[in-house]
Order: sequence, then C-alpha cells, then structure tokens
Amino acid sequence: MSDLQILMLGPPGAGKGTQSSRIAEAYDLEHITTGDALRSRKDMQTAHGTPREYMDAGELVPDPVVNEIVESAIEEADGFVLDGYPRNKAQAEFLDEITALDVIIYLDVDREELIRRLTGRRVCEDCGENYHVEFAPPVDQGICDDCGGELIQRTDDSEKTVKERLRVFDETTKPVITYYRSDSIFHQIDGNTTPDNVFKHIVDLLDSVR
Ligand code: AMP
Repeated sequence: MSDLQILMLGPPGAGKGTQSSRIAEAYDLEHITTGDALRSRKDMQTAHGTPREYMDAGELVPDPVVNEIVESAIEEADGFVLDGYPRNKAQAEFLDEITALDVIIYLDVDREELIRRLTGRRVCEDCGENYHVEFAPPVDQGICDDCGGELIQRTDDSEKTVKERLRVFDETTKPVITYYRSDSIFHQIDGNTTPDNVFKHIVDLLDSVR
C-alpha cells in the first residue's frame, strides 16, 4: 500500500465521495469518510447525544465525536484519502497535529449544480451505491443495479436540509478552505463537469506531484 495522504475538500454534493473512492482504488489507499462513519454510528450514545440528532438537521456533529473517529482511522491506515473532514477550523488544527498531508484537493462546484445533485441523489439502502434521478438513474426505477436493493433518498438530502447544509458549509467550512488555500500542496479542481472528467484531472494532478 502506498502511504500517500490526501485531503479532499469541497461543499456537500461536490463529488468528494465519488472521487475519493476512485482515488482510493486507483492508488491503493484507505478511503476515510466521516459522513459514512457517522451514518453507520447514527444512534451511538455519546456525551453529546447521538449523531442522528445533528445529521438529520444538517448540522455538524460535535468535534470530539468526529475527531476520535478520524484519529483512529488515520492511525490504522498506511495511506489515505480523507473526505468530509475537517469541516471547521478547530478540526483542521486537530488534523494538522495528528498527520502531515501530501496533497489537498478542493473540488469547486457552482451552487445551483450542488442543489441539483443533492436533491436528486438516491442511495441503495443495502449496498450504499449512489444514483441520481436525472444524471445516473438505475435501469429499473427505484432498484439498485448492483444488488437489487431499494433506492432511497437520504434524510438530509431533502431540499430544506440541503439548504441548511450549504449554509453550514458557507459559515463554518469555507474558513477551512481559506486556512489551507495558501499552502503549496493546495490544488483547486473544477468539479462542475462529469465524474470521469474530474477524475482525469485528479489523476493528472496526483501523477505530477508524486
Ligand atoms: P456527508 O456525507 O459528508 O455530507 O456528511 C453527512 C453529515 O454527517 C453532515 O451533514 C454532518 O451532520 C455529519 N458530518 C460529516 N462529517 C462531519 C465532520 N467532519 N464534522 C461534523 N459533522 C460531520
């Protein structure tokens, strides 16, 4: 396994999850994603309540809960692509203390495109595969092509919660981008195009910095 340490930044719906899985597979890296980690622990009792209370409202789960998940995942990985974290400046400072990143990729996507992607997203209840009602529909409506599971809309992909998630991004996560922007390992990529095209740009970038 290579030991490349990549950070993927961008607003909700930018394609961080899709691109991170492709990078992880192509470069033999661990894909660490706080969104998925929290979804599988939604009803875990913590000193701050359950993750569900925050996630269903589009708010951030408190830092101590998320920091612990990220720290143990990073400790276990030889190389990783980290997606969905850090989401505020305190998390970025914590991350800097526990690791030394090699590459930071910021996926930049227009606001209307983000809303279209998020509200049209459907996810397989059984295997987690992503679809989109308009851009990537399944062969049979509502059924996963891969495993036959039922496709559902994530609770936090409703229009109201999407707007709140984007507001939280503007208010709390944008300062993280400002925090890293002047770093020589920071690279901005246009995420408005197709997943294949965005991935090609990422591969070109990674091959040029390795
Ligand atoms: P995502 O799948 O990355 O859009 O994350 C879904 C939800 O999980 C977010 O809206 C937050 O409620 C929570 N979450 C994910 N990552 C973090 C993080 N780094 N800090 C706090 N909450 C997070």
